[in-house]
Amino acid sequence: RADIQSILKRLGIEPNNAAYSTGSEWGGHSGSNSIDSFSPVDGEKIASVKVASQADYETVIANAQEAFIFWRTVPSPKRGEIVRQFGDALRQNKEALGTLVSYEMGKSLQEGFGEVQEMIDICDFAVGLSRQLYGLTMHSERPSHRMYEQWHPLGIVGIISAFNFPVAVWSWNAALAWVCGNVCIWKPSEKTPLTGIACQKIIADVLKTNDIPEGVSSLIIGDRVIGEMMTNDGRVPLISATGSTRMGKAVGAAVGARLGKSLLELGGNNAIIISEHADLDMSLIGAVFGAVGTAGQRCTSTRRLIIHESVYDAFTAKLVKAYGQLRIGDPLDQHNHVGPLIDTDAVAAYLNSIEKCKAEGGNFVVDGGVLEGENYSSGCYVKPCIAEVKNDYKIVQHETFAPILYLIKYKTLDEAIALQNGVPQGLSSAIMTLNLREAEQFLSFQGSDCGIANVNIGTSGAEIGGAFGGEKETGGGRESGSDAWRAYMRRQTNTINYSHTLPLAQGIKFDL
Ligand code: NAD
Repeated sequence: RADIQSILKRLGIEPNNAAYSTGSEWGGHSGSNSIDSFSPVDGEKIASVKVASQADYETVIANAQEAFIFWRTVPSPKRGEIVRQFGDALRQNKEALGTLVSYEMGKSLQEGFGEVQEMIDICDFAVGLSRQLYGLTMHSERPSHRMYEQWHPLGIVGIISAFNFPVAVWSWNAALAWVCGNVCIWKPSEKTPLTGIACQKIIADVLKTNDIPEGVSSLIIGDRVIGEMMTNDGRVPLISATGSTRMGKAVGAAVGARLGKSLLELGGNNAIIISEHADLDMSLIGAVFGAVGTAGQRCTSTRRLIIHESVYDAFTAKLVKAYGQLRIGDPLDQHNHVGPLIDTDAVAAYLNSIEKCKAEGGNFVVDGGVLEGENYSSGCYVKPCIAEVKNDYKIVQHETFAPILYLIKYKTLDEAIALQNGVPQGLSSAIMTLNLREAEQFLSFQGSDCGIANVNIGTSGAEIGGAFGGEKETGGGRESGSDAWRAYMRRQTNTINYSHTLPLAQGIKFDL
């Protein structure tokens, strides 16, 4: 593909790429291990990347530590100015980077562009935030005393990201972490290293132009081995990790063992309740986009539909008809609705889940399967499918990262909410209803137990202005908007005595 070659060139991707970068310096060319990045779109090898060694990791840490000493002295609004320039650089590279995201990860071109737009949006948000890192002031109980709190940077923020949002998740973390005065070390997913290299080149140019030291932004390539170096390293006070619940449990335990901070964004098992009071046409769009968009590989993908018995048959018929119209194929072709899964391991996991679902009694109303033929040569294209199930099937309780949609019938709203909450994960949830009482109950403390709860919007996707994340096995972390920035800073409470005596708190007397 001639267009892909010119995009790689524009973004600075070589056939063989270095294992790490500290700003504009790239290193670790020599080691023997490398990762080949294949496109799930056509199965072609895009490029290779060296895997970082322990020595490379130490170089990255040393540069980051040095950069932090400088970066923390830069006033926050000036740090915001660097992030503003980064946002502008992303605007200039939106088409190229968005296309590479689509080609390396397999999401639709529109979603690839959307991901870069999300990066631009978080930069804008972070620029405003750079003048708003507010602390509170308190009234002291002691005379002529003043109390307040302030927020200081933590140091090195380690970012471990997943393949499915290969660039946006990094920027959600990095843009906020930078205005807060931190430096970042990013380990992108080993399944999508090239988009990581492209982003690092863009920010490195901005840093170099502004004469900012190496190491404010670092990139390190590798799999869980490099991830484990970061999670076990006391020099990295905060680890922000996005990925599977299995990964999050390992990261949480490693960081917890050294009493570090972790921000975990893990798997979901998201449901839409479709009430008897729902607008069924609107519900259909929300459900189908949520289930098949990004080939079911969003953490917020709709996995379960909990449908009122009175509309169950009618809505299922609409769904089956809509699935019959889905176009599956090359995600760079904007006529297609559904692209490939990330790799053949993901295809195997999809097939395995279908078998397990059947073994537990699931009734498929739309069958799955792997597509074969000239247009599907990567072997990663699968058919979105739908099964009628019980919520307590083991497979339904588990997040399969593929377009398998489960249908569950309910009678009362209390039952529907119990089903919606009756999974280990707690990321995104939604109710489709035009009934105010139902909507308010769903949003109340007796309603959804998820970090995200929507009314008349599906589960999939979110705006950067809100805090993003979920409860239970989703990990409890919050990123992006609202006051998520606080996770990237340490709070300090200050009390100043401007009197001539030293009164103690709680009226305690200590006379010498
Ligand atoms: P994954 O868990 O396989 O890998 C994610 C990252 O963690 C990779 O960079 C990997 O190298 C690293 N890693 C794995 N084990 C590690 C360990 N023990 N220590 C340190 N690092 C380790 O996930 P994936 O397949 O890339 O992504 C899909 C998963 O991510 C899904 O479960 C999805 O729901 C989740 N996800 C969640 C969110 C969210 O915001 N909640 C967003 C995107 C994706």
